[in-house]
Amino acid sequence: MKLLLVEDDRGDARFLRACLTRSQGSPPDLIHEVCLNDALAVLKEQSFDVVLLDLNLPDASGEACVRAIKQVNPNVPIVVLSGDDSEEYAIGILNEGVQDYLVKWDGEGKGILRAIRYAIERKRTELRLNHLATYDSLTQIPNRHYFVGYLEKAVSRARRHGAMLGLVFLDLDRFKGVNDTLGHHFGDKLLIAASERIRKAVRNGDVVARMGGDEFAVLLEQVPDIHAAEAVARKLTHVLSEPYLLDGHQVNTSVSIGVTIFPNDRGDPDTLIKNADIAMYQAKNSGRNGFKFFTESMHREIVHQHAMAQDMRRALDDGEFFLLYQPQFRLDGGGMCGAEALIRWQRRDGRMMMPNDFIGIAEELGQIIPLGRWVAQTAFLQSVAWQQAGYRPGRVAINVSPRQILHVTFCEELEQLINRYRIDPQLIEIEVTESCLVQDVRTAQRALDNLKHLGFTLAIDDFGTGHSCLDYLRRYPIDTLKLDRSFVRDIGVNRHGPAICRAILSMAESLDMDTVAEGIETEEQLAFLLEHGCRRGQGYYFSRPVSAADIAARLELELAATEQEIKHG
Ligand code: C2E
Ligand code: MG
Ligand code: MG
Repeated sequence: MKLLLVEDDRGDARFLRACLTRSQGSPPDLIHEVCLNDALAVLKEQSFDVVLLDLNLPDASGEACVRAIKQVNPNVPIVVLSGDDSEEYAIGILNEGVQDYLVKWDGEGKGILRAIRYAIERKRTELRLNHLATYDSLTQIPNRHYFVGYLEKAVSRARRHGAMLGLVFLDLDRFKGVNDTLGHHFGDKLLIAASERIRKAVRNGDVVARMGGDEFAVLLEQVPDIHAAEAVARKLTHVLSEPYLLDGHQVNTSVSIGVTIFPNDRGDPDTLIKNADIAMYQAKNSGRNGFKFFTESMHREIVHQHAMAQDMRRALDDGEFFLLYQPQFRLDGGGMCGAEALIRWQRRDGRMMMPNDFIGIAEELGQIIPLGRWVAQTAFLQSVAWQQAGYRPGRVAINVSPRQILHVTFCEELEQLINRYRIDPQLIEIEVTESCLVQDVRTAQRALDNLKHLGFTLAIDDFGTGHSCLDYLRRYPIDTLKLDRSFVRDIGVNRHGPAICRAILSMAESLDMDTVAEGIETEEQLAFLLEHGCRRGQGYYFSRPVSAADIAARLELELAATEQEIKHG
């Protein structure tokens, strides 16, 4: 144990040395300095297990002594030596980060030794707790808490010196997939390996932190311009997309990176973090494995989306949404066999919003849940109303987005609706997109099985445009494939479209699935689809989406026509 004694009274120093020698049985390994400045000089050169510090020194006194020591070495335990008279003062100073105090010379050597040991132990605990609070236990790099605190200081430093900072946010692509398929053990290894790659890719002084989950952040200090930050982002993208070799397995991932620059993007530390996060999401959305710089337009877009989501909430209460229905027909000339409900939003200022303008935002910001609930209820009630009026509208189809399907109470809510309104679920078709089926396979499977069990008809919308993984056609209880409009549009235009239509139709037939062609606009398209076995269709050729009243009028006509036919044999 190596001690630094800072004490200007040589008599006291001699006494202390003697006590320690007596209780240890050997002379202590001790360096004695009589003033603070000399003590600081040795403390810079050598490391000590403990500093024994008198607070009345020729060149400094009181807390200033403690502060000076801590500044040179924040990790060394300090034991303050005080005279009887200043005991109260010494206790007060414990709050300054001093580990213990000794009242001079009321003790035996043993008491002194014990105090020193305790002080060392206490300091160790303090450092360990500090480490736990500031470091991520898995990767051993700073955690979010530390990073945010550090960023705050760095921002005010940069502000003072007119310097530039780069904040880089990283999120591993498809990490959840690795965790789910290969196990947490692998996930952990991947995170550790990734954190090492990040650390190696940046400069020593740049702080790298784990922000939680598979998210990391790097603070670049002294970036001369945004090109320097871009170079770092490029390098990180590169090193993190190299395959990993973990326990003999090769794992491939990539990373999405968002970068924001202070002061270009302005902002307090919170805003900087938010901006880097937004840029990172943009990078993810534009196909992953790349980086994006935060821009003002991104910011405006986000603000716009939030305002829109807020507005949707109010619009739902105010009844600004309504449904149109696009009739579906049997292609063999058999008449109307159903209708797809399509949402519209008539805003207060008279503007008509189409679903493509707001469904995506509703989905992203959670508004889709109440909105989808309203769509289901409205369409179900409409179906019942048509039937009660004596019509045969066939199946009413509703569109359901991934977030709805994966929502915990989705099936329950639909079940309540069919019970409350006594609806025949056979007459309701639920359209899901391919992306629904691949995001969270287990939850999607459970939801679709439940819906099928309740008696609903299930359709895949826009079939052929998503991640067409044909395996899910076997796995999920799908009744209908809706042939995407883009393929139908290409019939008679190029060779590609009709080939895909044919392939999908023949596959549906062999799997015994029903087919609906979307977006039929011409006679030629209709003829082609009919020839190749498509059963149902919808599109402007037959009818645009129309109001429920228009559908009723059409059904009325059909009803009259059939009665005529019956009358005339
Ligand atoms: P979708 O489910 O594929 O619906 C068909 C879209 O094609 C509708 O656009 C319809 O108006 C349009 N369409 C129909 N026939 C033709 C045609 O012959 N030619 C052309 N060019 N277009 C045709 P809409 O109403 O704008 O809806 C767009 C998408 O928004 C829908 O695509 C659906 O994915 C989504 N959507 C609509 N309503 C809802 C809803 O209530 N909930 C959810 N989650 N999504 C909805
Ligand atoms: Mg649809
Ligand atoms: Mg569609």
